Amino acid sequence: MTGFRFDLTATDGAARAGTWSTPHGAVPTPAFMPVGTAGSVKGVMPEQLAAVGSTQILANTYHLALRPGADVVADLGGLHAMMAWDGPILTDSGGFQVFSLAELATMTEEGVRFVSHIDGAKMNLTPEDSVEVQAKLGADVMMCLDECPPLPCEPERMQAAVDRTTRWAVRCRDRWDRLDRRTAGGDPQALFGIVQGGVDPAMRERSARGLLPLEFPGYAIGGLSVGEAPSEMYRTLEATTPFLPTEKPRYLMGVGTPADLVNAVMRGVDLFDCVMPTRNGRNGTVFTSGGVLKIKNAAHARDTAPIDLACDCPACRRGGAGGFSRGTLRHLFLAGEMLAPILLSLHNLRFYHRLLADLRAAIERGEAEAFAAAELAKWGAGANVAAVNPPPGDPVRDRRAG
Ligand SMILES: [Zn+2]
Repeated sequence: MTGFRFDLTATDGAARAGTWSTPHGAVPTPAFMPVGTAGSVKGVMPEQLAAVGSTQILANTYHLALRPGADVVADLGGLHAMMAWDGPILTDSGGFQVFSLAELATMTEEGVRFVSHIDGAKMNLTPEDSVEVQAKLGADVMMCLDECPPLPCEPERMQAAVDRTTRWAVRCRDRWDRLDRRTAGGDPQALFGIVQGGVDPAMRERSARGLLPLEFPGYAIGGLSVGEAPSEMYRTLEATTPFLPTEKPRYLMGVGTPADLVNAVMRGVDLFDCVMPTRNGRNGTVFTSGGVLKIKNAAHARDTAPIDLACDCPACRRGGAGGFSRGTLRHLFLAGEMLAPILLSLHNLRFYHRLLADLRAAIERGEAEAFAAAELAKWGAGANVAAVNPPPGDPVRDRRAG
């Protein structure tokens, strides 16, 4: 496939450091992708994204297909033009949001029928539709439409979902093979397959084995972070990555907390996306080298320290001149100033990118195990972080679009 390549540069146990090359640039892995739900990472300029270390970003097909519509995005020059982002972009299939946001979603072998949550319009999403829409959006990487059953799930139901995901992957691949490349402004687009199977190792193996003959340039692990315990997710990753090709990138969808990222990298995952850093930032919760902090707490009213002395983001500037104090940021939040959620989003994104860059360096030095142990001791296996982002409704929906 032209323009796409994954090179492993170092391994340490199951952890990998690599480079994912796309027609719009290279992504050093492990890497985190900020979520630009409707064609914008909320409140953050593209230059600022690059400055805090974002290399590849994500946009949501469901949201863009409903508003402004895939044809409008194509007429506006595709997602790269629309988002003013020259780097790599990935779009999801739209299926996840159909089930978490749309009303009356019903699935058949053909695809999904649903009612738009915006205007009540009746719509269809088949595997072929998803590829066609994503071709018009023009991201570098598109995803296959899959079936992600909620957990817990009966074994028969899970196997049916795994097998349907494989059949749909064949249909996506067929449609992708016949794409008119002009739809994406002439740029090649890669299609990733998605491994399903819940938390059952045998189902994960079955799903991976069904997808491997299709030779996708990358493989995603879907259906996790949907309410199972973190330890169950980590066990499932351990049982899944050995069945994925070493020479292709592995993307864990919709995950997660800093502890989730570290645990997943240690089990062989390369790519992540999640709304956590930006959504938490907009709500006044920040990740720091000392743990989680809520900037709106009264304790910070006269606090002259930056969010994190170790951080070089535009909010902290490594604690030096020009940085914003916790007291100032608290005031800006309480006064409803738009700068506050912007600065905290930037800080959290910087935190996520720095965490993975440091982990990458540790993998290259052969010290991943020690680095991960030190980080995980700080994050208490994720429990304290999950608690700061209580799911207001569906915990699944909470992680994927924001
Ligand atoms: Zn910062």
